Amino acid sequence: MSALKTGDELQPKKGVLDIAAYVPGKSKAPANVKLHKLSSNESPLGPSPKAIDAMVSVAKNLELYPDGSSTALREAIAKTHGLNIDNILCGNGSDEILSMIGTTYLEPDDEVIFTEHGFLVYRIVALANSCTPIVVKEKNFTTDVDAILAAVTSRTRIVFLANPNNPTGTYIPFDEVKRLHAGLPDNVILVLDGAYAEYVRNNDYEAGIELISSTKNVLMTRTFSKIYGLASLRIGWCYGPAEMIDAMNRIRGPFNLNSAAIAAGTAAMLDGVFLEEAISFNAKWREWVADEIKNIGLSVTPSVGNFILIHFPEDTGKTAVDADNYLSAKGLILRAVGSYGLPNALRMSIGSEEANHLVVDALKDFMGSNVESKT
Ligand SMILES: *Cc1c(COP(=O)(O)O)cnc(C)c1O
Repeated sequence: MSALKTGDELQPKKGVLDIAAYVPGKSKAPANVKLHKLSSNESPLGPSPKAIDAMVSVAKNLELYPDGSSTALREAIAKTHGLNIDNILCGNGSDEILSMIGTTYLEPDDEVIFTEHGFLVYRIVALANSCTPIVVKEKNFTTDVDAILAAVTSRTRIVFLANPNNPTGTYIPFDEVKRLHAGLPDNVILVLDGAYAEYVRNNDYEAGIELISSTKNVLMTRTFSKIYGLASLRIGWCYGPAEMIDAMNRIRGPFNLNSAAIAAGTAAMLDGVFLEEAISFNAKWREWVADEIKNIGLSVTPSVGNFILIHFPEDTGKTAVDADNYLSAKGLILRAVGSYGLPNALRMSIGSEEANHLVVDALKDFMGSNVESKT
């Protein structure tokens, strides 16, 4: 038996130390200033009151393990979306599902493709499994299917595609998703991350259900963290071919969702009226905020999600960093997106009526006046 010598350290597996730890959206305001957190795409409406009631009722039985199969939740999802319950897997947020997909399918040195301004978790999944992240250029802040297909090699194992994408807010039509799938080898898994799918009302958009029902290598992930206003409870779900769901179930933690999450998620999924209200609220305010900000003279990437990407000039005093400091001092917390390769932009979640007005007014002041650069 050989003991570790002084100076030797246990090494994590290849890739792990290349991961830059995920930095969530900021959530602090200066003392005495009301905080408006618009940095994590959370819902300004909160969850359905029915979800809160369901969660509270669970408090009487906290000594019991949850249903390890999240049956009630999967049934509610299946019923709402017209799916078979055997094709649905629930996760502790869709982050856990993305991670389970990696653990189930990735071998060391496989390649994992995602786009330039893609969600940071995809890189983490690749590196955590000792794989090579392959980052593909976007065109005009939008997924470029041809660029993805050109990046595919014999080592490619997963293509992660957020559609709509975060932090850009853009999407590709379903025809393009199908063209992407048709160009991939059968042994490459296409993961369609539909975290913002509910917000999209464009006729040429489809989250992926139709494609999955007729193919063997496509997965769709969804979340309760955004439109359902339940980010705190960590609930996500995945729809896929029964064989893939079965494989992922084998590596899943036996009780990965807690009872509060299962109860609240089930009630939220069945409250279609609340969902429609949240969709309308977002559409109305997204349009208003984007128009107002464009009128100030800033460019805004057209978004179908619950957030917008605002581009700032590079002039001293008017940069994204300056704007972030200016807004933060007023308790308006947006998301700096330098880590997504967008150092000149800020992402703003669509907030309450009050918060939306405050941001627009603050940006008018910021762009109009000679604001000193605070570094
Ligand atoms: C917010 C978000 C998610 C959701 O993650 P959860 O773990 O379900 O909270 C997934 N993908 C993208 C692109 C997101 O922006």
